[in-house]
Amino acid sequence: MGKAIKTSEQLYFTKDHELVRRAVRDFVNKEINPHVDEWEEAGIAPLKRLFKKMGKLGFLGIRYDPKYGGQGLDYWYETVFLEELGHIKALGLAVAITVQTNMATPAIDEFGSEFLKQTYLKAAIEGKKVGAIAVTEPGAGSDVAALATTAERRSNHYVINGSKMYITNGTQADFYTLLARTSEDPGYHSFSLFVIPADLPGVEVSRKLEKLGVWISDTAELYFDQVKVPVDHLIGKEGEGFIYQMQQFQHERFSLLPFACTAARDIIDLTVAYVRDRVVFGKPLIRRQVLQHRLADWVTEIESLKQFIYHMVRMKQAGLDATREISMGKLIAGQLLNKVADGCLQMHGGMGYMKESVISRYYRDARGLSIGGGADEVLRGVIAKIENFA
Ligand SMILES: Cc1cc2nc3c(=O)[nH]c(=O)nc-3n(C[C@H](O)[C@H](O)[C@H](O)COP(=O)(O)OP(=O)(O)OC[C@H]3O[C@@H](n4cnc5c(N)ncnc54)[C@H](O)[C@@H]3O)c2cc1C
Repeated sequence: MGKAIKTSEQLYFTKDHELVRRAVRDFVNKEINPHVDEWEEAGIAPLKRLFKKMGKLGFLGIRYDPKYGGQGLDYWYETVFLEELGHIKALGLAVAITVQTNMATPAIDEFGSEFLKQTYLKAAIEGKKVGAIAVTEPGAGSDVAALATTAERRSNHYVINGSKMYITNGTQADFYTLLARTSEDPGYHSFSLFVIPADLPGVEVSRKLEKLGVWISDTAELYFDQVKVPVDHLIGKEGEGFIYQMQQFQHERFSLLPFACTAARDIIDLTVAYVRDRVVFGKPLIRRQVLQHRLADWVTEIESLKQFIYHMVRMKQAGLDATREISMGKLIAGQLLNKVADGCLQMHGGMGYMKESVISRYYRDARGLSIGGGADEVLRGVIAKIENFA
């Protein structure tokens, strides 16, 4: 008989992983959570300052090449980092951080030139530049191929015209990883991915958007008016941007899963603490079997999702395409986080409905997970296509 395994984590994570986990957790507890109420109220977190600190600690480039300031570690370390972001008491900030690490930079890392990597990837990893991903438009969200922003080639530059919608980190970003149309031809080879410096003439934040949840994360509508961007800001090859972005979406969607899982578990834990204390009809609420069973159902589903995430990590480590599993995971995560936040708010009664209770923030924040980064219906479409249902 081998040595007894104490927790499932010990199957996957070594002491070195746990050192990273401890470092990220300490940072979240000391440098982030004491400030989130203030930042949430302000509708923005000071990303420039925060990312510089995170960059110095190596948190923003866990998987990236040390040549560009990354840590050169594997997907297990990235998963540890993403799991710990779930302890941030305002999920919008976890999203803002993953925009930097898993949404605006993977395509630069995979397809970008040495110049783009040295100028933007390295600066993003070091926390010296804030990144944002600009794909969605007022007229094109789920149907990415319907986007209307154009990039027209003129000698040594492209001219960008159009607008982008719901862009996370949009008011603070130093650069946008932006998808634009470079040809009128039908099909998926009419798009290209660019790095657009935010300080170029013609780049404008049209407005900062007010939202139902994730207030801490600044979300913007952007306008690009005759923006001249040098040709060396094209990522990879012209006409391949849609394909690059579809691959980048896999990093984006995956990054949401570990922190959603952690957050769901934190919601359960804070609710258990509440219903243990709360006396109704002469005894603590937790003594009601109906509540215990509901909580047991949810922790069972959270644990299942967590193990499914570890399966995805194994696939990624083996170099396999995990699009099917990541789509399934994102679909489950959105629904589960919403269900847990809603059910746990109910267990808090009137207090859960109050702005002052953290559960009401989780409830508001959870809603976006079934929309942003691919709505549930879009994910079902991806799964149905891979399964050849039609
Ligand atoms: C908080 C937040 C942050 C965001 N951050 C960013 C960002 O940083 N960068 C960026 O580019 N985008 C961002 N987005 C945009 C996000 O990716 C889009 O909102 C999302 O892809 C859906 O697009 P849409 O809003 O245009 O909805 P639409 O495409 O108009 O779809 C509306 C609804 O229709 C349903 N639907 C869609 N397709 C189908 C279908 N085939 N069958 C059945 N039903 C369907 C879905 O329920 C969907 O919610 C963000 C969104 C939110 C809410």
